[in-house]
Amino acid sequence: MESITGPLASLVNPLSFSFPMWLASLVLKELALQAADLGVTCACRFLKELPSRTGQRVLYKNQLDHKDMMFLSVNSVIEAVFTCHIFKMMWTSPLIFRSWSSFTILTGPLALLLIVLLNDMFYAPAHRLLHHPSIYPFIHKHHHRSVYPTRGNIDARNEHPVEQLIAMTLWMTAVHITAYTVGLHAAALGTHLAFMTTGASLNHAGYDFDIRFLGLDLYSTGAHEMHHRRPDKNFGQFTMLWDKMMGTYIPYEEGAEATKQVLGEKAE
Ligand SMILES: [Zn+2]
Ligand SMILES: [Zn+2]
Repeated sequence: MESITGPLASLVNPLSFSFPMWLASLVLKELALQAADLGVTCACRFLKELPSRTGQRVLYKNQLDHKDMMFLSVNSVIEAVFTCHIFKMMWTSPLIFRSWSSFTILTGPLALLLIVLLNDMFYAPAHRLLHHPSIYPFIHKHHHRSVYPTRGNIDARNEHPVEQLIAMTLWMTAVHITAYTVGLHAAALGTHLAFMTTGASLNHAGYDFDIRFLGLDLYSTGAHEMHHRRPDKNFGQFTMLWDKMMGTYIPYEEGAEATKQVLGEKAE
């Protein structure tokens, strides 16, 4: 079997798979993602629904159509390619520590924390730019079709592929800066991949879950729900630290009042 070759080969096929193996990697990645989403669904049984999801209100959620399915399919391929790049880094990059003796507080937990913070430091302003009225209708509007997303990774990945490419590129930038500065262990990089996958699903599942570390709000599902209800607030993907610095942070609100201010009748 011949490998995929050509000028874009190293970009779209970083592990130099044969074409059948490349296709198999897409399927395997999708199966792994669905398994992770199933794990998130099971974990949600131990969590409470966000208070805004309870009661008699009709919560706006779009039905999936052909455009959603097309974007989800394209994004699945993009994710698989980026996942292969992450695995290649973990296995072969001279930037990454692999021996257990090189796993330290700095290359493990602190490197993981730095990736989370750097990733959102780049993502939050980029996300805010995608909300600029001159750009919003063409790219990011699609992700805001559901005001109260509940479908986990389906709603998380239901975005324009250009947005997916921007997010993945910023993520890789955060990973490289961390590796070049404090050093990065493969276990921390793998943990971040798992954190990104499950965190994105939980952000769109409708259940209440927070992570605080060293006094920092590292993750809050309620914060991202508020972004869907108030698209002019909470641009961070996980941590709200940068929104607090940009003045765009809004705390979670149980009632629908904040939602209506921006989205009108559709959000009831
Ligand atoms: Zn979202
Ligand atoms: Zn947005």
